[in-house]
Formats: sequence, C-alpha cells, structure tokens
Amino acid sequence: MTNFDSIDVVVPVYNEAQCIEVFADRLNTRLADLQIQYRVLFVNDGSIDETQQKLMELTSKNPHFATIELSRNFGHQAAITCGLEASTAMWVITMDGDGEHPPEKIAEMIDKAREGYDLVLVQRQSGQEASFFKRATSDGFYRFIRQITSTPILPGVGDFRLMNRMVVDALVAMPEYHRFLRGMVSWLGFRAAVISYVPAKRMGGQSKYSLKKMLYLASDAIYSFSLAPIVTTLIAGGIFLAAALIVGVVGLIQGIAALSWSAGLIFLLLFCTAILLLAIGSVGMYSGKVFQQVKWRPIYIVRSRTNVSSEKKESK
Ligand code: UDP
Ligand code: MG
Repeated sequence: MTNFDSIDVVVPVYNEAQCIEVFADRLNTRLADLQIQYRVLFVNDGSIDETQQKLMELTSKNPHFATIELSRNFGHQAAITCGLEASTAMWVITMDGDGEHPPEKIAEMIDKAREGYDLVLVQRQSGQEASFFKRATSDGFYRFIRQITSTPILPGVGDFRLMNRMVVDALVAMPEYHRFLRGMVSWLGFRAAVISYVPAKRMGGQSKYSLKKMLYLASDAIYSFSLAPIVTTLIAGGIFLAAALIVGVVGLIQGIAALSWSAGLIFLLLFCTAILLLAIGSVGMYSGKVFQQVKWRPIYIVRSRTNVSSEKKESK
C-alpha cells in the first residue's frame, strides 16, 4: 500500500470565490512538484457566490482539476464525504480550500505515509491565526469530547489528512447520516502518523463555520460517539430519587416545621423542571438523530459533475 501510484486531493468549498483561484494555483504547483499522478476534486457545497463559475474556468484549463457541484449547502462533512466517494486514487488528501491548510505540507504528508502509515493526521500547532473564540471553543470541545467518549480525538486535528484506499473505503462504507469525520476516522483505527502544521491565515473571505454550524458539529460528535448525556440523565434521576427519599424520611421524623418553605419550593420546582427538560431533551436528541438516520436520505445531492465520472468506483 505504500506505492504512490496516484493521489486525489478533495477540497470542499463554500462561497470561496475570493480565494479559490489563488489556492488552486498554489495547490497545483505543489502537486506538480511531486511527480506523481494527481487529481484535485473540488466539491462546491452549494455556493451562492461566483465559486462555481471560477471552478468551471479552472477545471476547463487544467485537466488535473475536477468539480462536483452539490444541489445546495449540505455542510463541510457532507461535502468531504462526496469527494471521498468520488475519489479513485490510491491515496486521498482532504483539505480546506481557503489556504488555512498549507499545500506546502503535502510533500511531508506523503513522505510520512511512505514510511508505511495508512493515514497521516495533520495537527494544528500554534493556532495563533485563528480567532481567540475559535481556539478557546475548539480546545474546550476536544477536552470535553475526550472526557465523554471512548474514541480518542487529538486536539487540533481537523479535516486535513491523508488516507490510503483501505481507510477511504472503510470510511465511505460507514453509513451514518450524522458525520463527524475526525471521530469516525479515529474509530476506524489503522496505523496513523501525526505531523504538525502552523495554520496560515485565510486567503480571503470569512469563515463559513457559523456558531450554529459549530454547534451542529459538536452535537454530531457528542450524540454519535457517546452515551454520556443519557447516562448523566439517569445518574441525575438517581440522585433526585435519593434526595426525595431523604427529605421524606427527615420530614416524617421532624414534622413539617422548617423555615422558608416557599423559597425552597420555588427553587425545587425550577430545578426539577430544568432537570426534566434536560433529560427529555437528551433522550429526544438521540431519537431525533435515529429518526433522521432511518429515513435513509442521501448525505448530499449532486447537481453537476465536471471532469469526473458519475459511476461509483469499483471496489479494489
Ligand atoms: N465549507 C463547506 N461547507 C460549509 C462550510 C465550509 O464546504 O458548509 C468549506 C469551506 O469552504 C472551507 C472548509 O470547508 O474550504 C472549512 O471551512 P471554514 O474555513 O469556513 O472553517 P474554519 O476554517 O473557519 O473552521
Ligand atoms: Mg478555514
């Protein structure tokens, strides 16, 4: 598997008209230097700016480029999944199209893979370029995920990685609708190497990961990889039952003569309601996600393909 016959680079893009041309050029230069067969698969995740036109121009000029346009915005993880499913090369790299994942790292990723690794993860080193809010939420999130799941996810490891065909096929075969790819890759196992990178600044435009999108991703990570919320709910139920029994027994012994019952009651009422709502919400999240999964809707819908076959690749 360490023979570098060919490499596909999957790049999900959403409203990246401001940087896609410069990025594509930079990526192409780096890939051409490698002297191996390569292809860049851009997945336009329902952009509403000029991204599609720019991709069409790029694709018509460079035979190494291919574009898949999705029918609407399905999200970063769905767009990567689409690119992985369309990939046919022996090795596949996934990276962002805004220049934060430097194409200059690719040579090092390949060198590492040549040592015999199935996947090479690229870990963000300093992160000074990202905003304080982004770094703080990301660090806190990884710490939390490590506590509540048994699937280890390294901090600062995003969706910049190299995988061999074995890993890509296994990942694509995982049928879940809610895709938290870095968790899924970690769950798969295989021989992984980790190298580090210093993220560059976005080449233009703004982050497409709104707070809402970040929260959705976090919820996919938590509810797809952990039973902790539901276990916490059960533990809370147990604690409340024990407390109720203690209050009942103490009340029986002392008689109901305690002070300030009204304040205590209001507090208890609010507290219990909050716990009940959290518990119902937690159970609801699991059933909601199960509901979405059993509908078996496709993860994405393709509107057009340029320079790329629509046939599913044969299994190798
Ligand atoms: N992206 C996407 N669909 C989305 C959001 C983002 O394909 O719904 C792409 C985006 O164009 C970029 C990559 O995913 O190439 C990472 O997104 P972004 O740079 O906005 O996230 P950040 O780096 O700020 O976490
Ligand atoms: Mg980015």
